[in-house]
Amino acid sequence: MNALIDGIQQEYGKHIFGTYARFPVAFVRGAGCMLWDDSGKEYLDFLAGIAVCGLGHCHPEVALAISEAARKLIHVSNLFYTYPQVELAALLTRLSFADKVFFCNSGAEANEAAIKLARKYSRDAFGPGRHHIISMKESFHGRTMATLSATGQSKIHQGFEPLVEGFVYVDFNSVSAVEAAVTDKTCAVIVEPVQGEGGLNFPAPGYLRDLKAFCKDRNLLLIFDEIQSGLGRTGSLFAYEQEDVTPDIMTLAKALANGLPMGAMLAVDEAARAFTPGSHASTFGGGPLVASAALATLRIISEPAFLGKVRETGAYFISRLKELKERYSFIKDVRGRGLMVGLELTVPGAKFVSMCLQRGAIINCAHDTVLRFVPPLIAGRAEVDELIGILEGVFKEEAV
Ligand SMILES: *Cc1c(COP(=O)(O)O)cnc(C)c1O
Repeated sequence: MNALIDGIQQEYGKHIFGTYARFPVAFVRGAGCMLWDDSGKEYLDFLAGIAVCGLGHCHPEVALAISEAARKLIHVSNLFYTYPQVELAALLTRLSFADKVFFCNSGAEANEAAIKLARKYSRDAFGPGRHHIISMKESFHGRTMATLSATGQSKIHQGFEPLVEGFVYVDFNSVSAVEAAVTDKTCAVIVEPVQGEGGLNFPAPGYLRDLKAFCKDRNLLLIFDEIQSGLGRTGSLFAYEQEDVTPDIMTLAKALANGLPMGAMLAVDEAARAFTPGSHASTFGGGPLVASAALATLRIISEPAFLGKVRETGAYFISRLKELKERYSFIKDVRGRGLMVGLELTVPGAKFVSMCLQRGAIINCAHDTVLRFVPPLIAGRAEVDELIGILEGVFKEEAV
């Protein structure tokens, strides 16, 4: 630990809300898959700001797009048109199932927009009273009142009751659980194609496709929260592509502008029509600065060769983790797609996260016992090998 950390920790304690249990590291610089702290110590980043910096830190093309936009036009109201916004929307719709995009500034805001759209669509189409939304246990959809209510984890609800009314939680990977929960008040189902915060839970074969067929049959909108799983993370631009299914609504954020705050809610025309002038708004949403950063990001991430490399590196990473699983009995499961990878342990993972940090590798822990790896998508075999070496050292220490 370096001497500077005490100082910044005290200043934080004095001036900043205590909403995070932070690690004792202050970062000052990043490039690619590497970060540096204020003492000059180097770290290999396998967290990427929690699946945000898909192109790594300070990617030159993103940095250039930001600096050029910053000199040209940073903000005007959404009462006017701007070019980067529409170019980005055109690219997102061309690359996805969607017809229309609404821009906002975070994942929670994107899900708020999706929840509002589902309610409004249902009211317009079927009349009032149909406003319930089914979501999954162990899901995560955000921290605003509606999105924490949509989140199927009681620890996120605690202290903030009463929740926004009308969210019903069912088991992930079970269409029959959804079927049992539907009433004449239900308007939509929201699901992460891959649960991130819930411990990297992947969809069972056919689950999402069957869920879509069920929703279609019952006139329910299907919302995919791809805030973490989207934008190349699982080796396809969107996770749903690997499931032979499309949603009616999808939310994006995290990796969209490679670190600048941006969210998006995408929908098919049929649903999107429910939003009319005045239905929803965002002062900053889709502004020219963030939209320029997102354009530069998406152009790179959506290239087939780029996505192919994510799949290849991911497969290599998973094979190396499976080697570790053979050697350490406290490794229970290795699961992943692309570079969204989890290592489930039989013991809490927090200790390993701290041990890795000390050895210069950043990972984190989801759902208590699952080590989560969501590195920059530009990581290759060399970065994987380095991380595996560090993990190996940590596991060895634990095993003795
Ligand atoms: C991170 C995340 C959110 C919330 O995004 P914020 O930008 O923190 O509001 C919502 N859903 C999923 C699946 C996420 O991973």
